[in-house]
Amino acid sequence: MAGIVVVFDFDKTIIDCDSDNFVVDDLGFTDLFNQLLPTMPWNTLMDRMMMELHSNEKTIEDIVEVLQKIPIHPRVIPAIKSAHALGCDLRVVSDANMFFIETILKHLRIRECFSEINSNPGYVDEEGKLRILPYHDFTKCPHGCSLCPPNMCKGLIIDRIQNSISPEENKRFIYLGDGAGDYCPSLRFKEKDFVMPRKNFPVWDLICKDPLLVKAEIHEWSDGEDLERVLLQLINKISMDGSAQLISNDCKLQNLPVSAHVPQVLRV
Ligand SMILES: [Mg+2]
Ligand SMILES: [Zn+2]
Repeated sequence: MAGIVVVFDFDKTIIDCDSDNFVVDDLGFTDLFNQLLPTMPWNTLMDRMMMELHSNEKTIEDIVEVLQKIPIHPRVIPAIKSAHALGCDLRVVSDANMFFIETILKHLRIRECFSEINSNPGYVDEEGKLRILPYHDFTKCPHGCSLCPPNMCKGLIIDRIQNSISPEENKRFIYLGDGAGDYCPSLRFKEKDFVMPRKNFPVWDLICKDPLLVKAEIHEWSDGEDLERVLLQLINKISMDGSAQLISNDCKLQNLPVSAHVPQVLRV
């Protein structure tokens, strides 16, 4: 469906763990990470941890090797491929970093399914050390959102994506996430949009406190199998809505945009 934008969080949504923790733990730096965590923002700490890895002779190849064995639920890749094949515009909005996400998505052979990745900059410097920088430079211009960590307000990224699409296109959004950082963007969507919070995860807890604050329709999911089922049902529902509109508008039945590949499941 050309009219649908699906926005995915990355950690614990596309992959089944937190990529930052996974790398730190796998390379044996958990204690240092926990010791430093109370002293600085998470994003700053990840840059510091990459420096520590480098000074302890852990190479970029070591980090890539860890990233390539990160756990993912077996139904998530088919879900992403199906949504892409149905013509949805898929994007990532994540507080991990560009290097981790690009490396993992390329390894899983699904990088080309996404039109855009929004995350903290991550690059290998001239010494071969991975640098992780904040998405928003919070020392120069703080984003001013009290719901979000200083380095990234996902709500502002959603605003930017929404503003880049003309209202005539009448795009509808589906947003999937698990973390507290996915709450701010969940508040930005409209009645015609859908938010998919992961059940019993922080974003779900926050939404449950006062669900009326979220204007979009809420559809929870708990694992990759659920993610696939709910996501494809929503895409199908939206495409059916579109065809119903077309019938009532001009009765051109032969132009129905419902493809034979769309699963015929209506209830969500
Ligand atoms: Mg997450
Ligand atoms: Zn925010």
